[in-house]
Amino acid sequence: MEKNAYQVLLYYKYVTIEDPETLAVEHLAACNEIGLKGRIILGTEGINGTCSGTVEQTEAYMNMMKSDDRFKDIVYKIDEADGHTFKKMHVRAREEIVNLSLPDDINPNELTGNYLSPEEFFKQMQDEDTVVIDARNDYEFDLGHFRGAVRPEIENFRDLPEWIRDNKEQFEGKKILTYCTGGIRCEKFSGWLVREGFEDVGQLHGGIVTYGKDPVAKGQLWDGQCYVFDERIAVPINQVEHVIVGRDHFDDTPCERYVNCANPICNAKIICSEENEHLYMRSCTDECRTHPRNRYFVEHNLTVEQYDERLEAIERRKNEMQAI
Ligand SMILES: [Zn+2]
Repeated sequence: MEKNAYQVLLYYKYVTIEDPETLAVEHLAACNEIGLKGRIILGTEGINGTCSGTVEQTEAYMNMMKSDDRFKDIVYKIDEADGHTFKKMHVRAREEIVNLSLPDDINPNELTGNYLSPEEFFKQMQDEDTVVIDARNDYEFDLGHFRGAVRPEIENFRDLPEWIRDNKEQFEGKKILTYCTGGIRCEKFSGWLVREGFEDVGQLHGGIVTYGKDPVAKGQLWDGQCYVFDERIAVPINQVEHVIVGRDHFDDTPCERYVNCANPICNAKIICSEENEHLYMRSCTDECRTHPRNRYFVEHNLTVEQYDERLEAIERRKNEMQAI
């Protein structure tokens, strides 16, 4: 193995942790000792983590986890990388390891949808009377998704149950398949669907990331890229073809590049080309562009004249678009 090879780990497990606060402190110290970077959440319901390190460091971490009865059977999704994909190491104790905030929580070890292998998911998603629901947020969907999947209009996972209730007629009497990045969100979401009375609910075991590596499914019927919560932002899934589904926020051309709105109050994720990022000063709306705390102005040392020129150019382009 190459000396400078890095790996990114993605993993979770729903398992009872008696004292997540104490474990978080110990776990952070152990991760720092190893030299890992990443984000790990601990709760009484389990662990949810993603972290990067050299092959040696990530192997050391997985070995450490194997020596703990609670974590020894965790399945890691492993990506190769050129370097760390995180800047820091965070380990935090939280109420939930994914934030669904159900008034009556689901324990996936007691109630969850049927686990489907990538191969089974690939077959079943093509059946008639099957509806595939993306269990992720809208900005994740917009970068890439399974062909024909339903896009819930939510910015946060916790809003998903209410959205399903509001749109129930679309799903009644159908077989439902759900998927998410690594599988953790579907464990609860599919359990919730079963509790809501949907009878035939399947979930993609191991998530999109596993599906993309599967030798049979080969990521097929996935369009675009998969949004990931580290510095890579987007990773490829479909090994057979690459269909771009992302659209530039400003001119609607095919695009797979995400930036954050320069207005810190907004911070919305915007798909846009590098050219449009600068033409529109990385701001999703006029309000954001002229917001007093907009960071673009400062980051690029714009003079007032330059700033006004760009605002005028944006107005000109808008008028030209309207004229067409
Ligand atoms: Zn904005």
